[in-house]
Amino acid sequence: MNVQAVEDQAAKAMAERFFWIGPTIDGAAKVSGLLPAGHAAVVRGVLDGLSNPKGKKTVTFQTDPAQDPADARTRGQKAADHLRDVFSSAARSAEMPDMGGDHPTVWISTTAAELQSGSGLAFYAGSPEPVPVSEAVQAACAGGIQTVIFGKDGDVLNLGLEVRGFTKRQRRAIALRDGGTCIIPGCQVPAQWCEVHHVTPYQDGGPTDVCNGVLGCWFHHHEIETGPWHLRMTHGTPEVRYAAAGKVLDWRPAGNGTAARLRAQAPPGE
Ligand SMILES: [Zn+2]
Repeated sequence: MNVQAVEDQAAKAMAERFFWIGPTIDGAAKVSGLLPAGHAAVVRGVLDGLSNPKGKKTVTFQTDPAQDPADARTRGQKAADHLRDVFSSAARSAEMPDMGGDHPTVWISTTAAELQSGSGLAFYAGSPEPVPVSEAVQAACAGGIQTVIFGKDGDVLNLGLEVRGFTKRQRRAIALRDGGTCIIPGCQVPAQWCEVHHVTPYQDGGPTDVCNGVLGCWFHHHEIETGPWHLRMTHGTPEVRYAAAGKVLDWRPAGNGTAARLRAQAPPGE
């Protein structure tokens, strides 16, 4: 292909470029688009880097990585989750400059009763379709989404972000303690794209504090809230446990940051 043909092709791709996300219908939104080569390379590079972190192996101090259950997601499911991780990070950084939360990009609403019971409905702003209240529970825990909680008379009880969002400094300290990735063994989603999970839920009095926060990618945060992964803090550092039908593992230390390095150096029994 000669230079002129390549330039013509690139110009055509630029002219025809688009990205479209449809309305939420029946619980999901369709997306489609046409990306010029450079746009596609950037998007593909980020998603591939998250799915196949070749050459990014860090030293880990897991007690027995061989026992980690395999991630059951398909490649497409992982890519969808990673897309959310990356956009969530962008949403957080748009909010962070002023912790007043004047410009939240995503809002979700529910009632105090439904949030407390964990059973009921929530609504994302801009969509009339309800979602399970577990989405609001996770959003309120992570703090990256503005959670609006209504009382029984329709009065606004709480605008979550100001009081519950972890600060950049706290996120950084947690990442240094636990390592630069999601807390779940084997997951390579980098810390900056992770949500901060309250180990003791904020609605049970868990503080928005380094000693109560761990970093998890959206999917694993979801799995901690509703699935097989469980977390607890022991002497200020996280421990993880996998428990599902047919496979139950013991509690063990999680993370590969400074805390894990110090644990590895400690004499047995300490
Ligand atoms: Zn993860």
